[in-house]
Amino acid sequence: MTGAGEDVLDLEEAGAVLAAEAARFASFGWMRGTSGNLSVVTGRGPLRLAVTASGLDKGELTAADVVLVDGEGAAVRGGRPSAEAALHARVVRLTGAGAVVHVHTVASVAMSRRRPGGIVLKDLEMLKGIGLPAHGREAVLPVIGNSQDMRVLGDRLEAAREPGMPAVVVAGHGLYVWGADPREARHRTEVVEWLLELELLEGPGPAGAR
Ligand SMILES: [Zn+2]
Repeated sequence: MTGAGEDVLDLEEAGAVLAAEAARFASFGWMRGTSGNLSVVTGRGPLRLAVTASGLDKGELTAADVVLVDGEGAAVRGGRPSAEAALHARVVRLTGAGAVVHVHTVASVAMSRRRPGGIVLKDLEMLKGIGLPAHGREAVLPVIGNSQDMRVLGDRLEAAREPGMPAVVVAGHGLYVWGADPREARHRTEVVEWLLELELLEGPGPAGAR
């Protein structure tokens, strides 16, 4: 993945990467049914993303189960992209990320119900895993309201985004995490999910604690 302005990853290569990433997330139980989708930027001049095809078991994807979309999430090549491809494209335009992970995890949905105003994280070594200080500063993982309209969801994500926090929880829905490439997006997803699982395990705490 080198070069600037040119296509840097062909669609089949991208499909193979996304299939491997999806199989891993599916093995964690984070892409149950046919839920969730992954994307990787294949070129920036003009912007193109490879996105996992809609409606397929994410543990069984092949390199061909991928759709090329433009900067608005509309199909350029391949089958039918998920409607959520438009939000992947929006995240890339907004953050400059090279890869986006969207998974419907139990912990993200449960925590969105418990902390609809945002999830405060602090004094956790694991925060370093998403580039934040482990101690002395509160980090907020934003929670935004769900919508079937990707433009609305994108506006909410843009408004709620916290500097330095490479993730947003969509209430009652799941998690979006981004990174420079699929590996970094995966590592960040694993860390954010770890943080969510911890918060969930610890429970709401004593009445009035927050
Ligand atoms: Zn979703």
